[in-house]
Amino acid sequence: MYRISVDGEFSSAHSLRDYPGKCARPHGHNWRVRLSVRTQDLDDRGMAVDFGNLKALLEEVLAPFDHRDLNSVPPFDTLNPTAENLARIIFEQAEARAPDGVAIDKVLVWESEKSRVEYSKK
Ligand SMILES: [Zn+2]
Repeated sequence: MYRISVDGEFSSAHSLRDYPGKCARPHGHNWRVRLSVRTQDLDDRGMAVDFGNLKALLEEVLAPFDHRDLNSVPPFDTLNPTAENLARIIFEQAEARAPDGVAIDKVLVWESEKSRVEYSKK
């Protein structure tokens, strides 16, 4: 099994709903995101997935969130824009775009240097 990862980032504002603290107020993060995929097989070149294609896929998923107020961007206009929900939505959107034979393994989202969430299906 090969596991391949690429990192991306985006900046956005958000505010947490139903949160009894300062994160209920609008504030910003420079989010860092790691997308990891897995595959059993290599192609004729000995590559699992082209890093460039994977980076492009991640950038496509993150673009709608960059320099936005997440609370006004679907699905976060109704879904609380927590790091946990972000990780799952990024996972699902990457999964919908993944090429055949490539499974999304996990998504890591850093809200800050010291705080991150990891999402996988199991
Ligand atoms: Zn925050």
